[in-house]
Amino acid sequence: MKTGMIGLGAMGAGMARNIAQAGHLTAVYNRTAAKAQNLAAELNVMAYSDPAQLAAAVDVILIAVSADSDMLEMVEAIARGAGPGSIVVDLSTVSSTSARQAAQILSEKQVDFLDAPVSGGVEGAKNGTLAIMAGGDSDVLARARPILAAMSRRIVHMGAVGAGQATKAVNQIMAAGINQAVSEALAFGQAQGLPMADVIEVIGGGAAANWFLEQRGLTMTKGSFKPGFKLALHHKDLKICQHMAKSLGMTTPLTDQTVIDYERLMAEGWGNEDISALYRLKRQLK
Ligand code: NAP
Repeated sequence: MKTGMIGLGAMGAGMARNIAQAGHLTAVYNRTAAKAQNLAAELNVMAYSDPAQLAAAVDVILIAVSADSDMLEMVEAIARGAGPGSIVVDLSTVSSTSARQAAQILSEKQVDFLDAPVSGGVEGAKNGTLAIMAGGDSDVLARARPILAAMSRRIVHMGAVGAGQATKAVNQIMAAGINQAVSEALAFGQAQGLPMADVIEVIGGGAAANWFLEQRGLTMTKGSFKPGFKLALHHKDLKICQHMAKSLGMTTPLTDQTVIDYERLMAEGWGNEDISALYRLKRQLK
């Protein structure tokens, strides 16, 4: 199936390369056109300057943009170009409500929709090892599966449209807790003057081992916070989680504290750093 990718940021570029390698990618679009032109030249595919034109030229349209309004803006454009029977898969992290809104807009054009947020970081996008949590019709997922399989090692159907994003919210709350735990523990280790590479190596072989420690532990102790996953994007996700928790009558103290911490870091100008920049607060780095 001819596939087009919209959004060639930290995640989208890696995904696009893997779909190209599997022989499915035929078109790309990015708001900042130079990124699309460069990647199109590298992968020998077509760069479009209009998402509606891209949608008209492919069977499957993948989206990986920042936030809810960005995704819905792209869906509105896609709806102007996509033909009946084509499939739109949103890989961005947004709310379940926005996912259902996208599905509604597209259904008026007989275009199918899946919300399929991912986990696994830029490393997962680059290596084709993402976990995909999908919401939507199981037949539509079956049709899109060969494309998604090119960028992932685990695809789980979570239910109707919106269920993928609901699952991703669970992931984002957990990621906040892991960030708090890893950054606080490593700051504590560093304050004791321990050899941090050895601390990370030995802890990474025990019960406290985790992906974030392995991928971001050493860089954070060296004061390097290159994204990765931009702090402002995780903040956007946690605001969605807070909203969902409120409607469930739940409290989420860990999430609330992380939102406060991120807002402080964003006010200090660190929003485009990786989420491991939480270490700045733990070590009181400027
Ligand atoms: P990113 O590097 O900041 O890239 C964002 C992309 O979205 C860029 O291509 C940007 O275009 C495009 N974009 C933003 N607003 C747009 C708009 N209004 N119209 C059209 N395009 C727009 O972000 P990312 O890390 O790739 O994240 C993409 C999505 O994946 C987000 O929802 C994020 O929460 C989610 N996610 C990220 C990670 C991670 O580790 N990074 C992991 C899982 C999920 P320009 O180039 O023109 O700015």
